[in-house]
Amino acid sequence: QLETEKFTFQTEISRLMSLIINSLYKSREIFLRELISNASDALDKIRFMALTDPSALATQEDLTISIAADPETNSLIITDTGIGMTREQLMKNLGTIAKSGTSEFLEKLESAKGDVTQIGQFGVGFYSVFLVADKVTVASKSNDDPDQHVWMSEAVDDFVIAKDPRGNTLGRGTQITIHLKDGALEFLNQDTLKGLVAKYSEFINFPILVWSSRNETVTKAAPTTEKQDDDDDLLEESLDKDDSDAPKEEEQETRTVYSWDRVNTLKPIWMRNNKDVSDEDYVDFYRSFTKNPSGEALTWSHYKGEGDVEFRSLIYVPSAADPNFFQNLAEKVHNVKLFVKRVFITDEFDLFPKWLSFLKGVVDADDLPLNVSRETLQKHKSLRTISKHLVKKSLDMFAQLAKQDEEKYTTFIKQFGSALKYGAIESNTHRKKVASLLRFASSYDPSGPTVSLDGYITRMKANQKSMYYLSGMSISEVENSPFLEQLLARGYEVLYMVDPIDEMLVQNMPGYNGKMFVNIAKGVLSFGDDEELDPQDTDAATKYQPLFDWLKTTLSNHVDKVISSKRLTKSPMAIVANDFGLTGHMERLMAAQGG
Ligand code: ADP
Ligand code: MG
Repeated sequence: QLETEKFTFQTEISRLMSLIINSLYKSREIFLRELISNASDALDKIRFMALTDPSALATQEDLTISIAADPETNSLIITDTGIGMTREQLMKNLGTIAKSGTSEFLEKLESAKGDVTQIGQFGVGFYSVFLVADKVTVASKSNDDPDQHVWMSEAVDDFVIAKDPRGNTLGRGTQITIHLKDGALEFLNQDTLKGLVAKYSEFINFPILVWSSRNETVTKAAPTTEKQDDDDDLLEESLDKDDSDAPKEEEQETRTVYSWDRVNTLKPIWMRNNKDVSDEDYVDFYRSFTKNPSGEALTWSHYKGEGDVEFRSLIYVPSAADPNFFQNLAEKVHNVKLFVKRVFITDEFDLFPKWLSFLKGVVDADDLPLNVSRETLQKHKSLRTISKHLVKKSLDMFAQLAKQDEEKYTTFIKQFGSALKYGAIESNTHRKKVASLLRFASSYDPSGPTVSLDGYITRMKANQKSMYYLSGMSISEVENSPFLEQLLARGYEVLYMVDPIDEMLVQNMPGYNGKMFVNIAKGVLSFGDDEELDPQDTDAATKYQPLFDWLKTTLSNHVDKVISSKRLTKSPMAIVANDFGLTGHMERLMAAQGG
């Protein structure tokens, strides 16, 4: 008697499964994509392991995914020869949630705002199988477990695990048997299945085989009546036949032949020549590897590095920052997959500096040793060279986008402008180039951010020495500031620094192309266009001295001095920070950070 143990799903999984089971999602076919993606991950893992321990493959040399429909039992059987799962792993991986963010996804699904096709991004793709199944059996054999085990579930709340009564039928890997719901029998149809597999497996780097049948009509020669004694006779007979000019009698016969048909092509998109890849292919690939079927990229760069290091890269700029991207900047973001000679190595790698970690894509290096651990690899000097190339290429890609498509570039700046500013602060090497990519709003185009520093400089007045800016919480706040009046009246352009990171930016990058930034809310402003303005209006000074004295006494805890000034044209007064003081904006920023 085999021991069967019963377990309850983690609550979130029960919630997810009941949602999935009771829903009528149109896009339920995506279960196939999720299962193929898991199979591919499992194959990646064993292939990676085999780099350092070739004997890991001994249990099963072929690395494939195969899919078969069994109309007699209304089942679909998906088998991979990947890393497999031990009993413990079956229990843990198919019973609990490892990834954060799943709860938010659940809440969205529950409020009908979620999109089930995005499930793969939340670490629970497997459960999409219940879109089409009423019972699922997962048999798995890992090198780390002497016995093959099965996991089985048909209910929302629990699953069972047992030693596989059939024994170790899989040398290594995982076989998922999906008992289809009555309403999902279309997935037994061979053509439907092949179409879906083709659609979802285009970018899977392992052969995917679909069990196929086709009818073949064969033409058979009419049986001869002569007795055939042995091979020699047969040969003679056929020779005789060829020589004879008697008409041949033929018979048509239709028979069903079965075969494993390979569905996907194996050349990864990044290995192809970019001339041979269409924009549509690039977008499809982006969606496939980000597991977001509606994902969009603003632009991408497909590059072949030659010379000091050989590598290929395909790097995308997403159309929007991931939620919490900026909050999580301190954590490691893993958006780039590293391959070495087509073998997936890891996505837990820092190929980009943090400020570029919003980029997504793949890098495939030729010059890296395959048979070393990830840790050793991380220290390899080729990787640092590749990293350098990638940063340079990415900055070129941004510049290219700025040149080619203003609208997209503005979107890029709105999404990732702060990340670039972070780069201008962090990177001594790239500061100048990054600064040229920055865009701001200014009095020239308050609807920004479209104003580049180079653009500002070309519009500077003949005698203007500095780049004027004003910072604040919003464009409207800055536009209503009394500090702006005098500069606008004199025809100067003022940059509006309304991003919280801007103050830090100008502190770390005090100038650009020989022009210094000057905060117009600070100290004494001197213009180069006419006589230096006397900051103190001496006439008014005598006339209003009693008022100034009264203000100074009344506000003695708050102000240094009270003076008359030509700084304003319409407003009666303004509070100005001294050269070394904090502006009102900076004080608020610091208060907001609890500093
Ligand atoms: P994710 O793939 O994002 O981790 P899934 O819900 O798709 O989330 O899968 C959960 C886990 O189950 C995987 O991380 C993996 O450990 C395990 N798993 C699923 N399918 C397979 C498989 N075919 N072979 C080995 N492990 C698998
Ligand atoms: Mg998955």
